[in-house]
Amino acid sequence: MAEITTKPRPKPFSIPRQPMPEQPPSVRVNNFNEVPYGFTADLAVLEAQRCIQCKNPACVKGCPVSVQIPEFIDLVAKGKFAEAAKKIKETNALPAVCGRVCPQEEQCEAPCVLGKKGEPVAIGRLERFVADYERVTGNVEIPKPGTPTGKKVAIVGGGPAGLTVAGDLIQFGHDVTIFEALHKAGGVLMYGIPEFRLPKDIVQAEIEYIQKCGAKLECDVVIGKTITVDELLEEEGFDAVFIGTGAGLPYFMNIPGENLIGVYSANEYLTRANLMKAYDFPTSDTPLSKVNNVAVVGGGNVAMDAARTAKRMGAENVYVIYRRSKKEMPARIEEIHHAEEEGIDFRLLNNPLQFIGNEDGWVTEVECEKMELGEPDASGRRRPVPIKGSEYKLPIDVVIMSIGNGANPLVPATTPGLDTNKWGNILADQETGKTSKKGVFAGGDIVIGAATVILAMGAGRKAAAAMNDYLLTGNW
Ligand SMILES: Cc1cc2nc3c(=O)[nH]c(=O)nc-3n(C[C@H](O)[C@H](O)[C@H](O)COP(=O)(O)OP(=O)(O)OC[C@H]3O[C@@H](n4cnc5c(N)ncnc54)[C@H](O)[C@@H]3O)c2cc1C
Ligand code: SF4
Repeated sequence: MAEITTKPRPKPFSIPRQPMPEQPPSVRVNNFNEVPYGFTADLAVLEAQRCIQCKNPACVKGCPVSVQIPEFIDLVAKGKFAEAAKKIKETNALPAVCGRVCPQEEQCEAPCVLGKKGEPVAIGRLERFVADYERVTGNVEIPKPGTPTGKKVAIVGGGPAGLTVAGDLIQFGHDVTIFEALHKAGGVLMYGIPEFRLPKDIVQAEIEYIQKCGAKLECDVVIGKTITVDELLEEEGFDAVFIGTGAGLPYFMNIPGENLIGVYSANEYLTRANLMKAYDFPTSDTPLSKVNNVAVVGGGNVAMDAARTAKRMGAENVYVIYRRSKKEMPARIEEIHHAEEEGIDFRLLNNPLQFIGNEDGWVTEVECEKMELGEPDASGRRRPVPIKGSEYKLPIDVVIMSIGNGANPLVPATTPGLDTNKWGNILADQETGKTSKKGVFAGGDIVIGAATVILAMGAGRKAAAAMNDYLLTGNW
């Protein structure tokens, strides 16, 4: 990709928001390749020229890691793509990831002034373009680490929260080691979000960048089993610990038949497909049931990912069973749209009552009841109420439970003095990440519950600043 010389700028309001070219649905359901192709250089420049360079940019306030959005967009508009990447990386170590999976429509793009009369600037698509440009051209500049402080920090969990803390603490001059339980770092970016939304080589390239900046990574180390937080602090010479272990404990409905063979948690199903590359079996070692009828229970992004993965694994019928209506679905509109295009069968206002199996213990049917919406409940959403006598059965071969995840319990259970709330989330100050235990910080999903990549990164940035302060002053 060569940097291009831009022509004189047209008037921003005369340019429509540029669509991103993508694979047609009939083609993409047969492969795991990324769905959108990304902007070309010309499209990126045109889109960037829409930005009116607000003096008091609302978009930056909507970004949890405060990317200097107008500045990087101005560089794109001038064709200075490498400089634009550098600008983003001042505050965001994972731009290729964020450009792909952040809910920009709720964050930076929501307050963009252009959105008041028309469509906001496609900030996410531009971020993605710039990060890809940098990676593909090999133009990646590695910043020098800060002057060594002699302080050692352990990061527990190599997801977006832990990686962000690592990136920032290296710049402050601390000696950083990330301990990751799985054989690859990245957290949900590696094991949860599917290849067709976030290619894994892109995640690994961003992790390698953080390693090149100076962070050490030790995989296959389960903190709480292999070694405890106390041992890291008292025996291994670490001066502080950051816990970013995420929310990887799947919830179930506790209805009959959930332990039949063929009933998966979304975590297991997606881990097999993504991290273990089951779609490439037998080239990869991990198999995954190839079946015709799949029921996905839930209405969030995880359910959309599971349904779209099942479709690509060859299922003819993939049902999304959700007890409220489309309006209440927590999934991103774009994800629902992509799932609809790919032929996912949405059974809205339906609730599973039980799973039924055959004599060998395999799931064969789901019994559902139909629902209608009543008065709003505590969440503000209208409560689903069963319709009497509406029960029916649907033949299925696999169920994927996608109704949410709770906090990973291992580290709190093996760390005396680390307080949690009643759901098992670590109690930590939202501004500093400080926990109830001196020298131990936490952030991301393990603190706030299952949320988003950028919120985990935002928590990581704040914790890194507070950790730096603690390491330099000793003040708690
Ligand atoms: C299927 C799916 C799709 C999603 N899609 C989106 C999306 O499109 N956009 C978005 O913004 N967010 C999305 N999310 C949410 C987002 O991925 C998470 O909010 C984010 O990854 C949280 O980051 P984290 O670093 O706190 O935790 P995680 O990403 O969960 O990382 C935690 C890491 O800690 C490791 N770990 C756990 N216990 C230990 C231990 N004892 N010792 C060592 N290591 C340990 C884990 O193996 C993991 O690598 C999705 C989530 C899922 C499950
Ligand atoms: S709010 Fe929109 S138009 Fe204004 S600087 Fe940000 S991206 Fe540009």
